[in-house]
Amino acid sequence: MFFSQAKSQTIPNLQSQQTQKEIQDTDVLIVGGGIAGASLACALSSSQYFDTKDHSSQKLKKIVLLDHTKLPSMSAYREDSQNLSKDKRIPEPRVITLSPNSLRFLRSIGVLQKCNQKFITEFHDMLVYEEMGNAYMRFGSQNRQQSSMIQFQEYLMKNLLFNEEQRQVFEESQSHMGASVENNHLLAGLVERTQELNKCQILQRKVVKIEVPKSQSEKPIVELDDGTLIRAKLVIGSDGEKSKVREEFGIRASGYSYGQNGLVCTVRTIRPNTIAYQRFLRTGPLALLPLWDNHSSIVWSCPPELSKDLIDVSEDKFVELLNQALQKSSDHSLMGQIPDRVLKRNTFELPPIIDKLETKRFAFPLSLLQSENLAAQRVALIGDAAHRVHPLAGQGMNIGLTGVAYLANQVVQAKKCGLDIGDYGNVLSDYERKENINAKMMISSIEFVKASYSGRIYGSERIADSTLGVLRNVFIDLIQTSNIAKYNFMNYASGNLNHPITYEWQKN
Ligand SMILES: Cc1cc2nc3c(=O)[nH]c(=O)nc-3n(C[C@H](O)[C@H](O)[C@H](O)COP(=O)(O)OP(=O)(O)OC[C@H]3O[C@@H](n4cnc5c(N)ncnc54)[C@H](O)[C@@H]3O)c2cc1C
Repeated sequence: MFFSQAKSQTIPNLQSQQTQKEIQDTDVLIVGGGIAGASLACALSSSQYFDTKDHSSQKLKKIVLLDHTKLPSMSAYREDSQNLSKDKRIPEPRVITLSPNSLRFLRSIGVLQKCNQKFITEFHDMLVYEEMGNAYMRFGSQNRQQSSMIQFQEYLMKNLLFNEEQRQVFEESQSHMGASVENNHLLAGLVERTQELNKCQILQRKVVKIEVPKSQSEKPIVELDDGTLIRAKLVIGSDGEKSKVREEFGIRASGYSYGQNGLVCTVRTIRPNTIAYQRFLRTGPLALLPLWDNHSSIVWSCPPELSKDLIDVSEDKFVELLNQALQKSSDHSLMGQIPDRVLKRNTFELPPIIDKLETKRFAFPLSLLQSENLAAQRVALIGDAAHRVHPLAGQGMNIGLTGVAYLANQVVQAKKCGLDIGDYGNVLSDYERKENINAKMMISSIEFVKASYSGRIYGSERIADSTLGVLRNVFIDLIQTSNIAKYNFMNYASGNLNHPITYEWQKN
């Protein structure tokens, strides 16, 4: 367990520099232009309440997005689509799977429309299986059509619980399981759309210091690496796991290292892959996610020593090890798959064979992190700065985007009502409450799944296999027999039920 440091030393008073240096004012200063920060910039820019009409009196726009790295541009993805045939382009190794609600949110801010549709891959099936038994769960849209129980449940939900808007959103969320897209492609789309809306200034700068105000009405002053001082009504920490904003505002975070790295790369399969696969191995989960044509993305979570070995071995050996890990039969032949034997309904499908490694292999250390507060007076945290989870369910950014949608809704609503957007009591506390519930629910589910696939209990593989393994295989067999159980499990696990139904920037 670790606790991130809250700032302890006193910093020179930036306000006293006011006489020597001009301070520029803005409404919202977003620190960190990853997917979380750029999505917030784009969502706020989509509302009519952030127009900067009085350009003369204000040097900065009402929204400022800062990142010390150069943000990607769409030209790479567009050139590819025009000058290269689709099959010549190899997907980048960092890929993200987005839930139907994250896609709806990105569509509402005009970002998906900016991206190159050829390189966004929808998938309709997900198959979870394991090395320590034969039990598996296959989720897919066919579960919904096959079950009269699901149709009855949906009838009740639609007619007794949902209004028209909720019905539409629900229907949309059921049309597919999600889509995969390269991180930088999505980020490039976000940057381009934000620039097009022309309400946000994007600066390539690093935050070095923040003077946090002592009184409620004062505003924080942020110092950038070129000495620029910016005063904002609201500062957003979207600066990732080691958030400087979180530290400067004295917000503590706790968590622990999973003792695993996430190895990512792109591979080629001998036929197109249409299913999102996740296999739980004793050393950690391995995911094979569909991309366009015969490309798939790999996320292999395993102990750091193994990930180093997997990066050091030759490309051919790596492909062989990958195929082995995905294809070899379980070493407990009797455990699991009882429903298939009884119901004679085998929906298990092995992934296609991988025949080529197409990119470099990269490894990222994996950890759980939860910030103790998600907001305070004049500050809110989003994305990995607020919470970071294991990539096993591909939910990290999806949780983050739900948070961005909550916060953007709250800030736009406050603007509309003439409230102070940085006020914790009237504005930000609502965001904190909603996001806390959503994140805690999702994080506890991910931790539960991770623990239930643990390859060792008290350091022993035998105990894990004989007790946990049997229980898990029986439980999964039970879920697999029931379409309605799978359907509800999937709707809960993908966060389909928590995302906002309406977006403030779409209202007049
Ligand atoms: C292997 C792996 C696979 C994953 N797969 C999925 C998936 O399939 N689906 C999913 O939903 N999630 C997935 N995730 C999680 C997802 O990638 C992260 O949650 C997401 O990228 C976090 O985005 P962010 O914008 O919050 O932070 P970041 O991407 O970390 O961005 C932070 C930004 O802040 C900038 N910054 C930092 N400090 C400063 C400073 N002082 N001044 C200015 N700028 C600063 C950095 O340059 C950076 O651009 C995965 C994660 C891993 C590790």
